Amino acid sequence: MTVPPDHPDHPDQAHSAAARTAAAGEAETDWQRQWAAHRRDHRRLRADRPLMLSLWRGMRRRCPRCGQPGLMIRYLQPTPACADCGESFSGIRTDDFAPWLSILVIGHLLIPAVISVERLWEPPLWLHLLVFGLIGAEMVLSVLPRAKGAALGLMWALGLRGDEQQY
Ligand SMILES: [Zn+2]
Repeated sequence: MTVPPDHPDHPDQAHSAAARTAAAGEAETDWQRQWAAHRRDHRRLRADRPLMLSLWRGMRRRCPRCGQPGLMIRYLQPTPACADCGESFSGIRTDDFAPWLSILVIGHLLIPAVISVERLWEPPLWLHLLVFGLIGAEMVLSVLPRAKGAALGLMWALGLRGDEQQY
């Protein structure tokens, strides 16, 4: 099979492209090639794994890839692999991401409520502890697995495993 003369792979085209680059003083460096490859991989990953959709599916304890339920096999234990699409989640370690996220969310809801109640009615301390202790415990129980799912979905979408090193 012959390469058409206007195709970039044609020797004439390749030569003229290289000559143009050299003439303009824009020789592609290793760094530029690596950066272009990185950008390409990143675009491919984003197209395959949309960030917000994966996060949303994870938060509802659904598989971030196919959206089917069953991301968690126990309260806080994710399934090693999706039963529907077979995507593996066993390599992803969320560590303390889920508790951190839960504290962030619950703290911002509970603390203003505690302060407001104190200002409005000034109830005794034991009543504060009883009421907000129970509400807080209930909130943690319901938020924590969703936070874990959201963390899993987000890390899956970003291609993170939880053992990354920063150099
Ligand atoms: Zn799936």
